[in-house]
Amino acid sequence: MIPGNFDYHRPATLPDAIRLLADLGEEARPLAGGHSLIPMMKLRMATPEHLVDLGGIAELRQIRREGNALSVGAMVTQHELLQSAEIRASLPILIEAAELIADPQVRYRGTVGGNVANGDPGNDMPALMMVLGASYRLEGPNGAREVAAADFYQGAYFTALEPGEILTAIHVPLPPAGHGSAYEKLKRKVGDYATAAAGVVITLNGGVVSHCAIGLTNLADTPLLAEEAARSLVGRRLDEASIADAVRHARAIMAPASDGRGPAEYKIHVGGVMVARALKRAADRAS
Ligand code: FAD
Repeated sequence: MIPGNFDYHRPATLPDAIRLLADLGEEARPLAGGHSLIPMMKLRMATPEHLVDLGGIAELRQIRREGNALSVGAMVTQHELLQSAEIRASLPILIEAAELIADPQVRYRGTVGGNVANGDPGNDMPALMMVLGASYRLEGPNGAREVAAADFYQGAYFTALEPGEILTAIHVPLPPAGHGSAYEKLKRKVGDYATAAAGVVITLNGGVVSHCAIGLTNLADTPLLAEEAARSLVGRRLDEASIADAVRHARAIMAPASDGRGPAEYKIHVGGVMVARALKRAADRAS
């Protein structure tokens, strides 16, 4: 339970952090809230020789309106997200999900950027960023690039981040007025990661689905966008038959591992239940 030796660096600016990571090489890792990385280091599943703490970089802590989108700085904590009136008004699904992450102690330290950059399929924010059509700004020694959340996750703990790159901000387009959203998370106890979870953003027009996105957490090696399930609902009313069709399509792409949270068959079953519940609740909230 004691991490290996490492050197600690705390740059004050983003260019300094990028330079440090480039100079220190592959044995250096960014440190955000530390609530995934430090436990991994204690288990010796991660053994970085250098930690580059992003906590001193003020520009990474801002939530800004940018036209019809919000830009959330990577070092905004889950607690700060919950305190943001702008997020509460425009992106209530992020509030709902953040309230279900761990406990207040973890949320005071854990950051949104760390949650999405980590690549753990159990993290709650990635599937929601995919559902919202968000993109990530990645900055490194070769400049900046924007990667869609839907293209970012390649395998468990394997993402589009190149060595030396820092995820600096998350760009979230605002869903249309009148949309409804919900996040349903089944967990064994308060503070646990999801056994299975589903997030839905839906828009109705005269009771008929005009837009829908469904995301799945901890139901495969990566967060999933259940595109076929969402497509099957467009142009239909949300009733038992259309929900059952969507659940069937969503279950078809789930590929969870059996573990202490249950066998894969059980997770696929409850994953479908989460999709049905999230669809109903999101539709109830859509005006
Ligand atoms: P860190 O732990 O500092 O970093 C995580 C990884 O991302 C590291 O590899 C780091 O190098 C990299 N990284 C961090 N920031 C950046 C960046 N800006 N650019 C590039 N790479 C970066 N999470 C959930 O989603 N749901 C849960 O239910 C949940 N339950 C938890 C319960 C407990 C008891 C604990 C301790 C944690 C739990 N977490 C849960 C994890 C928590 O949300 C973490 O805070 C989060 O996964 C990582 O964010 P962090 O800021 O702590 O990142």
